Amino acid sequence: MQPIHHIFSQLATVRKVVITTHQKPDPDAMGSSLALYHFLKQFGHEVIVISPTNWAAFLDWMPGSDKVLNFEITREKSEAIIMAADWIFCLDFNMLARTKSLAPVIEKAGATKILIDHHQQPAIESFHFGASDTTKSSTCEMVFDFIVESGHPERINPEIAECLYAGLIGDTGSFRFPAATANVHRMVAELKETGLQHTKVHENIYDNFMENRLRFIGHVLTNRMEISYEYNTALIYVPKSDLLRYDIRTGDTEGLVNYPLSIQGIRMAAIVIDRDEERKWSFRSKGNVDVNTFARRFFEGGGHFNAAGGRSSAPLDETVRTFKKVLKENASEFQLT
Ligand code: 5GP
Ligand code: MN
Repeated sequence: MQPIHHIFSQLATVRKVVITTHQKPDPDAMGSSLALYHFLKQFGHEVIVISPTNWAAFLDWMPGSDKVLNFEITREKSEAIIMAADWIFCLDFNMLARTKSLAPVIEKAGATKILIDHHQQPAIESFHFGASDTTKSSTCEMVFDFIVESGHPERINPEIAECLYAGLIGDTGSFRFPAATANVHRMVAELKETGLQHTKVHENIYDNFMENRLRFIGHVLTNRMEISYEYNTALIYVPKSDLLRYDIRTGDTEGLVNYPLSIQGIRMAAIVIDRDEERKWSFRSKGNVDVNTFARRFFEGGGHFNAAGGRSSAPLDETVRTFKKVLKENASEFQLT
């Protein structure tokens, strides 16, 4: 993988460009993809954003989101677009498996593949050019750097600023995580100078749910949360029946994993959701508890030091038992005792 600045001089040559991101895109994934989309369009490139799956309704306000293709329901069309592309940008993931059934299509495409990502342990052999930097708060921060370092900061318009800001607040927990560096705050100042209305972005993402979601959270925190003070860990498990009863949609469970971290002494929070195709895990931690390694070793996952995800093909009760077992056996290695 060569450094991304090697493509800067080629930005002016019109190309067919695809931008893709990880399955079930979050604000950083969708925000970085659409910010790059609005930037590249300004050069006259033919640009299409393809998401491997559907996404949360709270992202639908993002400028350009109505043009994003959902691969799961546009397979033939999307595959043809990917096969014809000159460039494929891969944003906010670093191993093709994170794009689910889109992965084999990207793999076989002849395009130049360009990575922009901030997760740990990138599969650099899958990409021709790229920027991979785990010190960055978000892929949105890296797309901002890409725009500025390629020599075009004046092209950051209010649409781009809104998309980038969404990813920043998503991945920094609204500027509370350690990744919210001085550079991040300087970036926000520059976005504000383009006319960004940051309150609007915040409300669009966090104050845009249905009543059922809040009642679901109440139910889950009351009935599905187990606290182990011995290991300073909280576990939330969500059976499929709860998802059906409360009519829970994609995105409605996002952020739920953070609630138990507000309990004094809790240093790791885990949630497992019984999705149709798999049991999906999310892990969050405080301080020196490395949930990237935890997810990688025990739940086929990965991510960041303090925020990671994983999966299991086992039934819900079995994967919960596995969690409790590996927690007990490895608590001291993971600084949980
Ligand atoms: P979340 O818990 O919000 O889904 O994800 C937390 C972080 O871990 C995100 O940066 C996400 O990209 C990453 N992540 C989530 N699930 C997986 C997974 O199954 N595998 C890997 N490698 N990373 C994941
Ligand atoms: Mn991200």
